[in-house]
Amino acid sequence: MAINRRNFINLSSLGIAGFSLQGFINTNQVKVQKPIVIATWDAGINANKGAWEVLSKGGTALDAVEKGVMVTEDEISCCVGLGANPDRDGHVTLDASIMDHEFNCGSVAFLEKIKHPISVARKVMEKTPHVMLVGEGAQQFALSQGFTLESGNLSETADKAYKEWLKKSTYKPVINVERQSPTSQLEDKYKAPTRFANGDWNHDTIGMVALDIHGNLSGSCTTSGAGFKLRGRVGDSPIIGAGLYVDNEVGAVVATGQGEDVIRVAGASAVVEHMRQGKTPQEACRLVVEKIKRIKKEKANDIQVCFIALNKNGAYGSYALHDGFNFAVQSNDENKLINAPYNY
Ligand code: ASP
Repeated sequence: MAINRRNFINLSSLGIAGFSLQGFINTNQVKVQKPIVIATWDAGINANKGAWEVLSKGGTALDAVEKGVMVTEDEISCCVGLGANPDRDGHVTLDASIMDHEFNCGSVAFLEKIKHPISVARKVMEKTPHVMLVGEGAQQFALSQGFTLESGNLSETADKAYKEWLKKSTYKPVINVERQSPTSQLEDKYKAPTRFANGDWNHDTIGMVALDIHGNLSGSCTTSGAGFKLRGRVGDSPIIGAGLYVDNEVGAVVATGQGEDVIRVAGASAVVEHMRQGKTPQEACRLVVEKIKRIKKEKANDIQVCFIALNKNGAYGSYALHDGFNFAVQSNDENKLINAPYNY
C-alpha cells in the first residue's frame, strides 16, 4: 500500500484522525513516517520487536520504549540488565532513564538486584516529584513499588568474564569492532566473532527512541555501564541531557559508548539542539561526535561514542566516532540493522 492522501482520508473518515498504517502526509505536506522505533546495537532488533507490539497497535511511544528495552534487560549480554558484567568488586550496578513527549523524565543509577531498572525509572518519573534516584534509595523505592529483590548472583557468562578480568584487573575499555553480542539471534550475515568473554569491556547499552502514531516522541536507555568500573561509577545513560534527551518539537536522541565523554558535552541534548537549528539527524549526531573528537585529541583513538537520533517527522540518523556501531530500525516500511557512518 503506497502512502497517499486517500489512505489518510479513508482512515480519517472512520474517525481515526491522522492514523494510517503507513504514516500520513501532514498539512505542510511533509511526509511523516510513523510509527517508527530505532534502537542501538544488534540487540536493538529484538528490543524493537517489543516496542513494535505497542506501536503497531496505536500505543504510545512511552509504553513502547519501556517495553522495548525490557526485552534486552531480560537477555544475557555484557552490558544490560542483571546478567551483565559487574563492577570491579563483582557487583552488577544498573543505570536507566526514560523521557516522554512533555519533558517528563525519570532515572535510576547505581541500582542493584532489580531486574527492570527502566521500569523503576518510569516509576520515578510518574510517582515522585524527583527525576533521579540512586543506589540504596533507588532500590528501596523500587521495592516500595512492588519490584522484587533478585539474588545478586552473576550470570554464568558474566562470572566467566569477571574471573578472566580479575587476572589482569586493569580498567581498559575496548572499542566494539565486532557487530554481535554472543546471545543475540542474528541472521548469519551479521555474525562475527566476539570478545565478550575475554574480560574486556565492550559497549552495548540499549538506547531506544520512538515516534508513535499520535506524533509523540519518547526515549529510553538502560545499561550496566562500563564493565569492571569503579564501584559507584555512573555513566551517561541515566543523565538526562547526556545519555538521553527528548524534545517533542524537535526530536529524540540516545547515546552509547564512553559515558564520561558523552556527559562532558551534554551529548544527547547537544544533538537535539543541532536538529533544532535545521540539521538532519545524522548531521546533528556527527557534529557532536566531532566535538568529542576535538576535545579528546589523540585520546579519541581509544574511545567509542555513538548517537542515534529521530526527528519529529520520523527521519532518523546516527553517527559514531569509530567503525563497529550499528542500530536497528523498525517501521511499517523497514525492519533492519544499519551500520552507522563513522569518523575514523
Ligand atoms: N554509555 C554507557 C556508559 O558509559 C556504556 C555503553 O554505552 O556501553 O555507562
